[in-house]
Amino acid sequence: MSLCRADKFLLASAAVTVGSAAVFGPSAWSLGVPFGAHALLMVDGIFRPESAVLYPTLIRGRTDQPQVALTFDDGPDPEITPAVLDMLAEYDARATFFVIGRHLEKHRALGERIHREGHELGNHSWQHSYLLNFSSAAGHGVEMDRCSQLIKSVTESEREPLYRPPVGLKSPAMARAAHQRNLNVVAWSIHSRDTFARDPRAVANGVVRRIRPGDIVLMHDGHDRDNRHRPLILEALPLLLQGLRERGLKSVTVSGLSNETQPATPAPNDARLASDDARS
Ligand SMILES: [Zn+2]
Repeated sequence: MSLCRADKFLLASAAVTVGSAAVFGPSAWSLGVPFGAHALLMVDGIFRPESAVLYPTLIRGRTDQPQVALTFDDGPDPEITPAVLDMLAEYDARATFFVIGRHLEKHRALGERIHREGHELGNHSWQHSYLLNFSSAAGHGVEMDRCSQLIKSVTESEREPLYRPPVGLKSPAMARAAHQRNLNVVAWSIHSRDTFARDPRAVANGVVRRIRPGDIVLMHDGHDRDNRHRPLILEALPLLLQGLRERGLKSVTVSGLSNETQPATPAPNDARLASDDARS
């Protein structure tokens, strides 16, 4: 059985604890060290979506080409996603849509359009529950598998989609479930702040000013709550795409950004992990 990175960390801290307890006798340290190690892992998984401590996480792709990856989370949304797709087509840009499974089930035709137009469908869990991070590895697995299976049926492909946990949250249990499935986990290097900003121009300018080749940008075309929408992207995206064009940067899929060569069709399984390629 191969252990995931989080389990190795926990086992190491347990071994140190047992060793020190054997040598120095049981003490506050004996209990404090494993508890502290676990607490540190939980804090890291919650506050640092880009962290690869718990699990190898892609936050940036190849930097030797003038390419970036725009990513859209929480859709598909029947009011927003079609317009986003129109804008991307107008600029000949490709993107990755980390969809919520229950939304994709309701709006399957939109998922098919995303795939048909050369974009990539990524797995963003089935429910997008904020409590998912506190569930067991089995609980994470159910969420991962259900959305993954639907994406595979929409794309008619057996390739395992990239995975982005809800809110980018990680836990040792999430890492265990991802490890068992050999998932490629993706975070981002630039958060567009489109979920809390009010000025679409500020969102677009903020991204265009910071972006460099290889960057992965987080945006939202959907909302995790039913019947709520995130329309700001409709005004921000054309400005952003225009800004990328002026800077000579092309948006490709996350898998395209991380591959040796840009594939004609998205190839999620071929994604290379920039932060660490050891699938421990
Ligand atoms: Zn989300």
